[in-house]
Amino acid sequence: MSAPPATSSAIPIQRVAESRLPDVDLTRVVFGSVYSDHMLSATCRDGAWETPSIGPFRPIALHPATAVFHYAQAIFEGMKAHRTDEGVPVLFRPRQNWKRLNRSARRMVMADVPEELFLDGLRTLVRLDRDWIPPNAHGSLYIRPFLMAVDPYIGVRPSREYQFHIFTAPVGAYYEGSVNLYVTRRWIRAAEGGTGEAKAAGNYSGSYAGMAEASEHGCDNVLWLDSKEHRYIEECGTMNMVFVLGGRVVTPPLGGTILPGITRDSVLRLCREEMGLEVEERPISIEEVVEAHADGVLSECFGVGTAAVVTRVASLVGDGVEVRLPEPTAVQDEIRDRLTTIRLGRRPDPFGWVERLD
Ligand SMILES: *Cc1c(COP(=O)(O)O)cnc(C)c1O
Repeated sequence: MSAPPATSSAIPIQRVAESRLPDVDLTRVVFGSVYSDHMLSATCRDGAWETPSIGPFRPIALHPATAVFHYAQAIFEGMKAHRTDEGVPVLFRPRQNWKRLNRSARRMVMADVPEELFLDGLRTLVRLDRDWIPPNAHGSLYIRPFLMAVDPYIGVRPSREYQFHIFTAPVGAYYEGSVNLYVTRRWIRAAEGGTGEAKAAGNYSGSYAGMAEASEHGCDNVLWLDSKEHRYIEECGTMNMVFVLGGRVVTPPLGGTILPGITRDSVLRLCREEMGLEVEERPISIEEVVEAHADGVLSECFGVGTAAVVTRVASLVGDGVEVRLPEPTAVQDEIRDRLTTIRLGRRPDPFGWVERLD
């Protein structure tokens, strides 16, 4: 574990008069139902960032013509803070989220967010609302940084003014147990040259029609296939996909259409460097999965991402496909255990992933 660099964090803080925390049961929060007391906000005008501030969590009032409402020039990040067994708040690879936010910003022609604004802002906010982090048996503090275009202008062009905010929310598990995924060739999530590798707002609303169809078929989410041949597996919702085939760990490559997950990267490193598993980042078609399943070679399928951590996939169904995954889940269970224990400081952190906010 590493301590964050000493900062002379000069972010002005206006505290809430009265915390809402006494009314919240942190051992039973539903994802997205409760938000912490404070949020961070900053504005960028013509490329210059003004001093950020932290204040009470509150609504944002904007002109009806504000760019983000109409053309979705908006991006976000998702990360979590936990508490160690001694109660110290910890972040997991926060710099990776900052880097990815700025890659998304470049793709969407938005202002870059400076490293100090993102990281010091995050640390100050999480320290301030540290009591909102649920006890680690019950969940974590979900952190949502986001950047949006706020020119009060209805014309179609990149904004000159942006707002960056971070708020946090105590959360329990995202998925309870396992998920069933829906296979479809009707909808796509992303295409080459598109915005699939950015965490851009519009990617998600564009997937709702597929999700609605998945839901009509009793599934939890869509297993997205590639946009050209509708064969190669891409990802799912907010999770990257991992398969265990004949003892090898196989996952689709980052080719511009899938979101480069920080959990994905961490899982692949754990598999390669700590668990001695062979890892293949290569295209994997739905036909290959169906065949491997029929041949008894497919032993596991799971999704990995910040919100869902490591989530077992119980079935892949739809479009003539019906794959029911076998029960044993040894590989994913070990990965989940390693990720969780490294993050909580119960195991050495060989990669320097965990940042303590003492
Ligand atoms: C955020 C996200 C992921 C997971 O990324 P992490 O950094 O692991 O949380 C995967 N796919 C999509 C589409 C996402 O938005």
